[in-house]
Amino acid sequence: MSEELNVVFPDIVLEQVAADAVLTTVATKVKNGTRITEAEGLYLFEHAELNFVGALANYLNIKKHGKKVYFNKNFHIEPTNVCIFTCDFCSYSKTYKNREKGWELGIDQMLDIVKKYDGQPVTEVHIVGGVHPKMNLDYFCELLEKIHAHRPELHLKGFTAVELDYMFRKAKLTTREGLERMNKAGLQSLPGGGAEIFAQEIRDKICPDKVDAAGWLDIHETAHELGMPTNATMLYGHVETYAHRIDHMSRLRESQDRVGGFNCFIPLKFRNGDNDMSHVPEVSLVEDLKLYAIARIFLDNFANVKAYWPMLGRESAQLTLEYGVNDLDGTIDDTTKIYSMAGSEEQNPSMSTEQLCALISTVGKVPVERDSVYNEIEVYGNTEEATV
Ligand code: SF4
Repeated sequence: MSEELNVVFPDIVLEQVAADAVLTTVATKVKNGTRITEAEGLYLFEHAELNFVGALANYLNIKKHGKKVYFNKNFHIEPTNVCIFTCDFCSYSKTYKNREKGWELGIDQMLDIVKKYDGQPVTEVHIVGGVHPKMNLDYFCELLEKIHAHRPELHLKGFTAVELDYMFRKAKLTTREGLERMNKAGLQSLPGGGAEIFAQEIRDKICPDKVDAAGWLDIHETAHELGMPTNATMLYGHVETYAHRIDHMSRLRESQDRVGGFNCFIPLKFRNGDNDMSHVPEVSLVEDLKLYAIARIFLDNFANVKAYWPMLGRESAQLTLEYGVNDLDGTIDDTTKIYSMAGSEEQNPSMSTEQLCALISTVGKVPVERDSVYNEIEVYGNTEEATV
């Protein structure tokens, strides 16, 4: 949505924080449509109440999107969970040595997954997995070409910057050359995974050997320059501090100013099931909601904030709709194992369109099916109400 709606600012939040100069400044900036600083963002994490950031985030969300909540009809292909990396928070991967405990799909097997959806109204396939030492750029270009030849109208979104970085280095191609090659094979956009937390001191602890922040941003910015939109994620709630979260979002905000091209921001909650960080407790739902709200306030140049329901569980995801979230991802159809293996409530993540729409409309919002680049396909409900 390009034009902002005329929405009444909840002046009560200004009255509530009159004794706190920073919170008053933040509320005034939100009211006036002015960007908050990194220091103010940090202050929100450290000192603001959930109801304060929630009221501001909800105001901004309604201003941008009215009552609309986006979703799409998609399915995932996870080519393999065999991975050369050993990120401590990962519950999903298997080393190459232990590959018999994981899975490695051939191109025909992946094409069969696509064919299962023949005649069904899905609009996107989302392809992500481990970084397999034997699945290279040629392999994935062949996959993309075959999917595109089979179903040309299906949007092909795929491969994290971590997977792409490895593929391009192995093929001895620059980022631009590698992305151009994949784009020619049919890849249209990138998901946002692999960003984790940009600060190197945290990457050194949780994912020391994979692409760093500069490499991640370079791949995304190059994709944007080539006209391929992408998403951005942040893995939160483990050993990072609030300052690391603000630093992460600040780098994204700067990149969006400089190049543009991020479709949405997706906070990903650290889950501690069956990984090398199982001793780290998970953060509370209040902490989740506060993060979503602060992200909505801080990332003023991101149109969309998405809650990934297979990770949060559907009821928590529904709650985020009151805290700045305007997108619930897709129907997914039980085709991702990344979070079910990490202990998410969603062991077989799949929702029909009716279930997803009910989840959205029971909290007074209007479900809107979108395509992969946020063109609206269908409003499920009252179109006039959607923009109130
Ligand atoms: S998070 Fe990704 S890169 Fe890291 S081990 Fe798991 S699959 Fe591999």
